Amino acid sequence: MKRAYVLFLCLIMAFAAIGCGKEEDDYGKVDHIKNSVEDEPMTPTATPTPTEDPVKPLVLCLDPGHGGRWEGAIYHGQQERYLVLQLSKEIRAYINEHYPEITVYLTREDNETFSSDIGPDLRQRVEFAKNCGAQILVSIHLNASEKHNLRGTMVCISKQPNIHDISVELANKLLDATASIGIPKNGNTGYVTRNSGDTFDENGVPVDYYAICRHGASLNIPAVILESCFMDNDKDYEFIKDDAAIKRLAAVEAEAMARFMIEKFSKK
Ligand SMILES: [Zn+2]
Repeated sequence: MKRAYVLFLCLIMAFAAIGCGKEEDDYGKVDHIKNSVEDEPMTPTATPTPTEDPVKPLVLCLDPGHGGRWEGAIYHGQQERYLVLQLSKEIRAYINEHYPEITVYLTREDNETFSSDIGPDLRQRVEFAKNCGAQILVSIHLNASEKHNLRGTMVCISKQPNIHDISVELANKLLDATASIGIPKNGNTGYVTRNSGDTFDENGVPVDYYAICRHGASLNIPAVILESCFMDNDKDYEFIKDDAAIKRLAAVEAEAMARFMIEKFSKK
């Protein structure tokens, strides 16, 4: 009889302990949700659980090169500033349709923006990307060579250690994407770095020659210049010759950018 009584007491205590534990879990959950709301803007459908970290929104910034009075390259009666704007808008449209979890911003929507001096203009483009909360900036260009004898995709990246390695990864994804539709890599690797010959940081180390990459390094945002192909090469021109060609090029580049962003940033 006494043994049965002790067993009964033990059972009551065990239930009480389970109850307390559950209560703590619930409070923990409430706190977590409250913190999430304060830290991050949440969509109405987002329901974080205690085991999941809040996910930062994925933001991609595209920079259609040139614009304003900066025409860029001109071949086949086409101006680079218009073609890269069209290509950028097609990339955004593809990502909006297939990867709605990624927000895409363009540094310019028309050809009137960015008509100031080229120096501050390039800095402003990277500052814009930073202010958007973008994880990466891809500056969209088309190439041309002095002797008109080069072809292929070239990605200009920073040499600075804070953004170099991730820029190489992104460059390789973009190069694989354009290769998949028949555009070869330019040079051995397809990506290039270049140091400034006359500008150095406080430690005497030369900064990047390419302004978009240089400002990307200083603002700590991976910023690359994607030169999809050479406008002045007949074989390359096939890939940008009309609306359908530009849409096809945009689709493979958009797919590469979206997958890269999801792989690198969706759980951070
Ligand atoms: Zn350009």
